[in-house]
Amino acid sequence: MYSIRAKVLRKLPSACPLCGLSARGGDLCRGCSQDFVGCVRRQPRCDVCLDPLQASIEYPRRQPEVHCARCREVAPPHACLVAAIDYAYPGDLLIQRFKEGGRLAYAGLFARLIWDAWKAREPASLHAPSLGALVPIPASQQALGRRGFNPAGELACELARLSGCSLKREWLSRTRESTHQKTLDLAARHQSVQGLYVCKHVLPGIWVGLVDDVVTTGSTVRTAALALRHAGAAGVVALAAAHTPRAWQNGAYD
Ligand SMILES: [Zn+2]
Ligand SMILES: [Zn+2]
Repeated sequence: MYSIRAKVLRKLPSACPLCGLSARGGDLCRGCSQDFVGCVRRQPRCDVCLDPLQASIEYPRRQPEVHCARCREVAPPHACLVAAIDYAYPGDLLIQRFKEGGRLAYAGLFARLIWDAWKAREPASLHAPSLGALVPIPASQQALGRRGFNPAGELACELARLSGCSLKREWLSRTRESTHQKTLDLAARHQSVQGLYVCKHVLPGIWVGLVDDVVTTGSTVRTAALALRHAGAAGVVALAAAHTPRAWQNGAYD
């Protein structure tokens, strides 16, 4: 849980990282919160990939869990994806400053937004599993060398502090370095991450929060979630700072 010091810091005046107006504790101001954070929750979306659902066809109001046709067709290894923001202007600026500009304080901001989004889910939508551990997606040596830190690891660390869940970095490791995914189309992305992660531990039958910074096509999350499920996790919930809307995914779905 957050310490008393952290609670005091949360109340101190600060400038909103997006617009510079008055805010508190490094968080977004109220206006930016409403404009950019709420958009992920404003319209009905698929639980698993966060694609918008077509209200009349895919979102029968009385159905507790909502999956799009694509996710119903091939059952994913993770139960749902929870993201703080869409990776779109201007929230993408925050992600870039965090990941490429080394603004590590933004890990705390995103962790609070992710945790709020997780807690705000309708209780009926996922049988409300409680998370027993948090596991970040491991970074490649190349990315670690370039940035000096793993953004997903920083997010998981802040989420653990906020939620009281244990942080289990060692539960996932990489089997190899991989090609830079930004240059790949969807099929090549899936191929490049096949078997990329492994869990060498026998896990207790608990729900695991799998933490990533930006989820684009979901290939990485699927592969990592599969490794955790194979190792014995009862279920996996993917938690991300941002989700890239389909239209922005490098044409990967076109
Ligand atoms: Zn603002
Ligand atoms: Zn879906």
